[in-house]
Amino acid sequence: MRAVLLTGEQQTSLVELDEPTLLSGALIVEVLRCGIGGSDVESFLTGRLPAPAWFGHEWTGRVVAVADDVAGHFEGERVLGAAPPPCGGCRPCRSGLGSHCAVVLDMIIGADPLASNHGAFAERIRVDARRVHRVPEGIDEDGAALAEPAAVATHAVARADVAMGDIVVVVGAGTIGLLVAEIARLSGAGAVLAVDPHEGRRELACDLGADAALAPGADVARWLADKGHGLGADVAFDCAAGATSLVTASASIRRGGTVVAVGVRQSKNVMTAPDILEREADLRAALGYQVADVRRALDLMADDRLKVGPIIDPEPVPLSGLDGVLRALAAGGRDRQKRLVQPAL
Ligand SMILES: [Zn+2]
Repeated sequence: MRAVLLTGEQQTSLVELDEPTLLSGALIVEVLRCGIGGSDVESFLTGRLPAPAWFGHEWTGRVVAVADDVAGHFEGERVLGAAPPPCGGCRPCRSGLGSHCAVVLDMIIGADPLASNHGAFAERIRVDARRVHRVPEGIDEDGAALAEPAAVATHAVARADVAMGDIVVVVGAGTIGLLVAEIARLSGAGAVLAVDPHEGRRELACDLGADAALAPGADVARWLADKGHGLGADVAFDCAAGATSLVTASASIRRGGTVVAVGVRQSKNVMTAPDILEREADLRAALGYQVADVRRALDLMADDRLKVGPIIDPEPVPLSGLDGVLRALAAGGRDRQKRLVQPAL
């Protein structure tokens, strides 16, 4: 079967691999779609992966084989890969800190013993059954590939404790930022501003219900002076993880407001102690997500309250086209919708 592997800095290879083998506790899934995420572009740029199964982790597919000791799954089932429940046995779990389970984090980054030695830019993949979630009726293959980013966005909004009527600023209107803006609105935000330098992304943000979308700069301050009663935003998300995006986010909040760092890219993007102190800012981070965020995201998507269709580029990418798309994204070609790989093409 065919798979695309990350083989070095800005280097991928389309290879023929042996079929994945079934192990105790695992499933084999035929991959129908796999989203190309910001972390994939980052890995492509640096050549570094936390584990091989990390390259292409926003996948959905159909179960083709089930280990004898796995209950509750069946051949032909539509599934997607996301976080498992807390393991119950690791040190944080045994200390009552299941929301910070060490095994969950390992599984999310593909570092668990049952993870395949490649990611889901492949025709088939082996996966730990605990990581597999059934795709609800009402979500098609394209939508299901957005469930994992939607869980990340759900977690970020939950971390922010968005309250009814809050003024919310979302810096970075890529996939995660667009989803954060939508979910903040669903959580009761009174006004949502998306901030992004790309015009196409700003248009998409407005199509998806943001009150306004602006390029970084003076217009943001003017919007906040109007909508934020001259105080600033109650909550600001950094979903860009760019060179200055956390500073842009923190500069937009009122005194006592909340800043949530969502992006994980390596950067020297720092708030200084005076930035935090002068605003008495509540600075929080959202790392990945938990199984409850997956359930919430799927519920929101299944009845179309959370709209993901407009975020998806309608032209799927074959495995042979992945390298070119990664190069284009790495070169800054980000004024586009989410690209999905369809391995069967
Ligand atoms: Zn645990």
